[in-house]
Amino acid sequence: MEAIQVKAYGTTSAEADLNQMEIPRRKPTPKDIEIDILFCGVCHSDLHFAKNDWGMTQYPVVPGHEIVGRVLSVGAKVTDYKKGDLVAVGCLVDSCRSCSNCKADLEQYCPEWVGTYGGFDKHLKTNTHGGYSESIVVDEDFVLRVPENLDHAGIAPVLCAGITTWSPLRHWKVGKDSKVAVVGLGGLGHMAIKLAHALGAHVSLFSRSNNKIEDAKALGADEVIISTDETAMQSAMGKFDLILDTVPYEHDLNPYVGTLATNGTLVVVGYLGPLDPMLVTVPMIMGRKSVAGSLIGGIAETQELLDFCGEHNITSDVEVINIQDINEAYGRMLKSDVKYRFVIDMKSLKS
Ligand code: NAP
Ligand code: ZN
Ligand code: ZN
Repeated sequence: MEAIQVKAYGTTSAEADLNQMEIPRRKPTPKDIEIDILFCGVCHSDLHFAKNDWGMTQYPVVPGHEIVGRVLSVGAKVTDYKKGDLVAVGCLVDSCRSCSNCKADLEQYCPEWVGTYGGFDKHLKTNTHGGYSESIVVDEDFVLRVPENLDHAGIAPVLCAGITTWSPLRHWKVGKDSKVAVVGLGGLGHMAIKLAHALGAHVSLFSRSNNKIEDAKALGADEVIISTDETAMQSAMGKFDLILDTVPYEHDLNPYVGTLATNGTLVVVGYLGPLDPMLVTVPMIMGRKSVAGSLIGGIAETQELLDFCGEHNITSDVEVINIQDINEAYGRMLKSDVKYRFVIDMKSLKS
């Protein structure tokens, strides 16, 4: 299949910085949409992937799965979009379409799901490349519609940070009688607070630092519990129906399990790997408590969230950067020095 070369930012090894490079994009097929990328959010998963934290990265890698752009062209069989539409692409660009998960709008759990980067482009027979680039070509079934009333940079993080927290909030049926806690105030954490608050829940934040208390309250949290303060942790015992744990690195889950109410669930969305220290089952058995995981969200659920954000005027709190500042941004993200999501203005790559 024919390809066109476009400008992108990526890396060729775990040790190297991200730099400008050229990548192939397929010539749009009849079902494809070609998108001019306006903004792309910077997720901690981009950093994990670029640095090969999960041991599965194939280089070169061009990260980015919080993409907002305008339709440049559509294939002959595209029905729902036209040139100029404001659209988005999240973490998925394809799936098998026929398994039970795909049929249940859970494409993220399809054994053959194709990631926006680090997946396999069956047309080009190469790795997929993400949104740190000028443009992208995506099957229309994996393209989302963005409400025009929302800030274009601010809506980008909804495509990953937003949907990753929305999906468990919806699955565990969070509403006005729910007590929700969020662990970690970063990209995912700040969206979790906004969305749980908008659903009417009582929202608490567990944070390591007391310098985020005012911010958390402004985002919609009702209280902040400093996770390193044992007395504060003790006073939260048995309280929460749902905890969303967004911490990216290995940490002890046991203190958080203790703060679940009977029938409560702690959902790990951050750390991917074995737990150390191990989970103690006693509080789980004594209180029918669960520890679960959750991966992003399906296409229909992501559109539901974009529409919800449009209705409730919800966007992410972002710091807009130029692509040339991406390596510094990764360094700052590792120190939790961002309020609360970097978003790349892709004009900086085009000029
Ligand atoms: P982020 O913006 O860097 O936020 C992570 C937050 O975790 C920090 O702000 C910090 O908050 C807290 N934290 C606690 N211990 C930490 C430590 N040792 N190092 C750094 N931060 C620590 O990251 P993000 O983009 O929200 O992503 C969070 C995790 O979710 C990443 O591992 C990412 O790969 C994963 N993720 C998963 C999915 C999924 O589908 N399950 C989707 C997207 C991302 P405090 O300072 O308040 O403690
Ligand atoms: Zn992400
Ligand atoms: Zn499938």
